[in-house]
Amino acid sequence: MNRLSTQKSFDSLFAADFMDMINDAFFVFDYSLHFLFVNKKAASLVGKTKKELLGKTVSQVFPEVKKTSLYIDFLKSRRFSKKPIEYYSPSMKKWLTVSVYPTKHGIAVCAKDITVQKKIEENAQKAEKALQESKIQLDAVFQILPIGIGLSDAKGNYILSNKTMKHYIPTNVLPSKDNSLYLRWEAYNPDGTRIPRENYPGARALRGEYVLPGMEMLYLEDDGTKTWTRVAAIPLKDEDGKVCGQIAIVLDISEEKRNEQRKDDFINMASHELKTPLTTAKILLQFLQKHLQENPKYAILVNKMDAQIDKLTLLVGELLDVTRLEKGELKLQNEVFLVKPIVEDVIEELQLTTIHRLVVDWHTKLFVYGDKRRLRQVLVNLITNAVKFSPEKTDVIIASHKKNNSLVVSVQDFGIGISKEDQEHIFDRFYQVTKNNGNTFPGLGLGLFIANEVIIRMGGKMWCESEEGKGSKLYFSLPIYKNAN
Ligand code: ADP
Repeated sequence: MNRLSTQKSFDSLFAADFMDMINDAFFVFDYSLHFLFVNKKAASLVGKTKKELLGKTVSQVFPEVKKTSLYIDFLKSRRFSKKPIEYYSPSMKKWLTVSVYPTKHGIAVCAKDITVQKKIEENAQKAEKALQESKIQLDAVFQILPIGIGLSDAKGNYILSNKTMKHYIPTNVLPSKDNSLYLRWEAYNPDGTRIPRENYPGARALRGEYVLPGMEMLYLEDDGTKTWTRVAAIPLKDEDGKVCGQIAIVLDISEEKRNEQRKDDFINMASHELKTPLTTAKILLQFLQKHLQENPKYAILVNKMDAQIDKLTLLVGELLDVTRLEKGELKLQNEVFLVKPIVEDVIEELQLTTIHRLVVDWHTKLFVYGDKRRLRQVLVNLITNAVKFSPEKTDVIIASHKKNNSLVVSVQDFGIGISKEDQEHIFDRFYQVTKNNGNTFPGLGLGLFIANEVIIRMGGKMWCESEEGKGSKLYFSLPIYKNAN
């Protein structure tokens, strides 16, 4: 065999098989657009057998193709498509890319089914559009929120902030980092000292701290008025846990503050108004007591009245203490004293008023520095609570021990106990536990609040251990001034 005949036999024997192996659809037409050749992929793409195609013209098999630009501009006019043409076939319901190559004897066409790819692209476009739309909606909500929200980078420059935030932080820099802004913000500790700028919420969040529910701060407006705000901040961390920014939230709480002030003013006024007639009634009663000694029948009644007036005086006293605390006017008359005699005295007095056994388990002889009268008040509150919340008339144990440099006093009862959730709040102002049946024990929910504040002012602290149904143990500690010899 000569060389040419070898090539020819190769072509005729293998070319068709080879074309069936490739993954693209391949068609060859003559100039009148009769199918001369189709590979396997081409036949399956158009959903016909090779027999149904070969020898027929394109428009015979697919009449709808005649109106398309693929047919008019390329197949009919035998133009070479420099780039693949994207073509949608409604009859096949498929997207194709088609390349047209005019040759010396006809037209070769290579086609690829890109329907799946097109669907993915379409879905991605739809998703992108939906995302853009929701971004716009979210941004609109973000912008009009009456709460200031801002996001800063690790250096404290705000990258994003809504309209309200721009009112409070117009320079894009954290107040603690910008002197002109720093001067507009004020925050105070409970003792009245000013909180330094490095402890402002934003600065703390950049050090990794979660400042929640936030710090109460005053903001100086352009017109010179001051707005009460609550500023919260949380750190933003990268994948390695490193702080890369913070989110700050500023809330206008002036209305809340005004209401609080109104309530405080009312309590203050009401308790002062109540105090005067109570004092008068007490004096008149004492006068009556003296003159009714000879008539025991009336004396009992007057004594009962006296006890009721004492209770009322105690409640009014609590109200007055709260307003004093709020105004920072609760002054302590501090001195050095031995605690034990005060405890003994209180117990002796209270034992007369209850059939609960008050048990003393006192093994310390320590001096503290503080207000004797206020410490009495704390002890009376803890013991009367222990009695009040132990309806079964069980024992109340008053104990003390020394721990490091502190005297620790505990008042334990075996009464109704306090749930874990309520334990966190019993030292709050006006907090009372409401039982399932809606009932609360008599009281104003102020005793522990005042006791806690008094102990804090004497340099100590208060806490509680309790189990519901089993009883409670309320503790306070005070720094030891010295040991008694
Ligand atoms: P109140 O004058 O209403 O008793 P307190 O401030 O003294 O107010 O106490 C707050 C609340 O804490 C009480 O109403 C009660 O629900 C709970 N509480 C305090 N002491 C005890 C105790 N020993 N046992 C159970 N509950 C207690």
